[in-house]
Amino acid sequence: MQERWSSGRLIVLTGPSGVGKGTLLKALMTRHPELYLSISATTRAPRPGEVDGQHYLFLSRAEFQALVDQGELLEWAEFAGNCYGTPRRPVEAAVQEGKWVILEIELEGARQIRDTFPEALRIFVLPPSLHELEHRLRGRGQDSEEAIARRLERARAEINAADEFDVQVVNDDLGLALDRIERILFPAADTLPDP
Ligand code: 5GP
Repeated sequence: MQERWSSGRLIVLTGPSGVGKGTLLKALMTRHPELYLSISATTRAPRPGEVDGQHYLFLSRAEFQALVDQGELLEWAEFAGNCYGTPRRPVEAAVQEGKWVILEIELEGARQIRDTFPEALRIFVLPPSLHELEHRLRGRGQDSEEAIARRLERARAEINAADEFDVQVVNDDLGLALDRIERILFPAADTLPDP
């Protein structure tokens, strides 16, 4: 990234749906507001409490397709019946400004980034077990049984690909997982106090 985009950096965070990436990222952003979290585009309907332009850019299929056709997405993929993608311009602008940009994306998108930006740091978040993941997905109470089944099926495939990533972090305990990610991103932070 340094050679291509000054001192900015691209960081990919991937892991099965329900593993707690969102919660981890929220905590990470609170501790490190200097990080830049990319806002994805999606054709998925907003969940209660989700705000357009803040959690996602909620688009129709046609609007999403137009972004694909115009080459405006850095990567994109279908997930559980919906399309998700990373708008190119805000990410490129932020990295060019020297920011560290985080993409929270699923496996197919992470593979695309590996091919186009091999210098990106790719982190995979693992659940303690598939059983625990199912428990968390149901506990969210946000998705239908059918959606949960699709997400679990996809989760199995994603977990099998964890080795493709630079590092793997098990999210057994939020505080510990957060510390692990922090130490990967900021190796000099070894002296951080324990939670
Ligand atoms: P959710 O519907 O639970 O918000 O997200 C479903 C999956 O889509 C998650 O695994 C999430 O990481 C992934 N996702 C969110 N934004 C993007 C994106 O821009 N690109 C790709 N490839 N996946 C994304």
